[in-house]
Amino acid sequence: MISDPTDVIYLDNAAATRCDPRVVEILVRHHTDVYGNPGASGHAHGRAAAHAVATAREQVRQLAAASLPRDEVGVVFVSGATEGNNLVLNGLAQVAPRDRRRIVTTTVEHASVLQPLRALRAHGFEIIECPVDADGRVDLDAMRALVDETTAFVSVQLANNELGTIQPVDRIADIAHNAGAIIHCDAAQAIGKIPVDIGVLDVDVVTFSGGKFYGPKGTGAIVARIDLLEQLPARTIGGGQEAGVRSGTHDVPGITGLGEAARIATTELEVELRRIAYMRMQMEELLIRTMPGTRITGTGARRVPGISSVVVPEDISAPLVLALARDIAASTGSACSTGGPSHVLRAIGLNDREAGRTMRLSLGRFTSEQDVMLAVSSITRAVAQLRRRADRTGAARELLHAGLER
Ligand code: PMP
Repeated sequence: MISDPTDVIYLDNAAATRCDPRVVEILVRHHTDVYGNPGASGHAHGRAAAHAVATAREQVRQLAAASLPRDEVGVVFVSGATEGNNLVLNGLAQVAPRDRRRIVTTTVEHASVLQPLRALRAHGFEIIECPVDADGRVDLDAMRALVDETTAFVSVQLANNELGTIQPVDRIADIAHNAGAIIHCDAAQAIGKIPVDIGVLDVDVVTFSGGKFYGPKGTGAIVARIDLLEQLPARTIGGGQEAGVRSGTHDVPGITGLGEAARIATTELEVELRRIAYMRMQMEELLIRTMPGTRITGTGARRVPGISSVVVPEDISAPLVLALARDIAASTGSACSTGGPSHVLRAIGLNDREAGRTMRLSLGRFTSEQDVMLAVSSITRAVAQLRRRADRTGAARELLHAGLER
């Protein structure tokens, strides 16, 4: 039986966030009241829906490209960062000049970047993954050496989903542009968490999901400089929606929900960022104090405020801690996939045992200080229980061996 998740302290905000009630309100209204097709301009229902989509587009532009003139930015609504990444990366490869067959990315990108890029090898592209340091930060010297006149584009995330590490994207954009290459940035873990502006970062295109910043799941956007957007080949062909790149009737509720999530993030980000960063600091200090030997990964780099990658002490396994601490929802999932340790933990130099001791605790808008305190005590209780069990098993083994030797 599945237990009631509302009893659980939710510390998996990097995987998915609760939809903000203000977003839900807008979502419902655009299912029940404003349900026309935005393409049906001949009547009030269609016009209201078109207006709602235009408003959402403006809200998303404000969130991700406020510094640029409105007519220089295009927003394409998609189903999330995975679709956005696939659309942009495959599209850019398709229109790459013949003499630019190199694509540079990093070893710590999300699978929705790494997999489509690796698949491009079959089409004659050379895919190079730039290394990172022990905090997960891109090695800028290596990046400089890898990006050259044969590079079509660079794809680098703004924040890492396992560590929270923020990449020096503006400096990587410089490197890309100096070589005449385009730069794409996967901002799925950064949008709504830290300020993101394609003008300030100097990137050509960003992608993100609504479901990671309190918007509806299955929503997302590509925000790009208009000249780049005009070059992108169509992903789906039909009614010509979304600048002809992604035809199909708009998901008006999802899009307006994403717009509302963007509006809230734009207005509340500064305060929220500080509150979440403060709670994380408290949590990390408490974990280190109550469990000597605990280490936090990525603290040498700038991190998005909500993510904490915790390496528990040597005698403890992270999956066992989370299995015992049933009142917490957190993740070892991306840290320990079925194929063994995650590529991110490997890329920062963790061995298999350290990776097996890693758990990701991620805080968000709906996390309270009390949640943090309760979660820490639940984790320390689980660790104490595991140690007691290990002691009992050790004692039993000693008895057994003593018996065998006699
Ligand atoms: N990029 C990053 C950095 C992510 O963390 C994720 C989601 N884990 C994605 C892309 C893909 O997002 P979605 O699953 O919403 O398409």
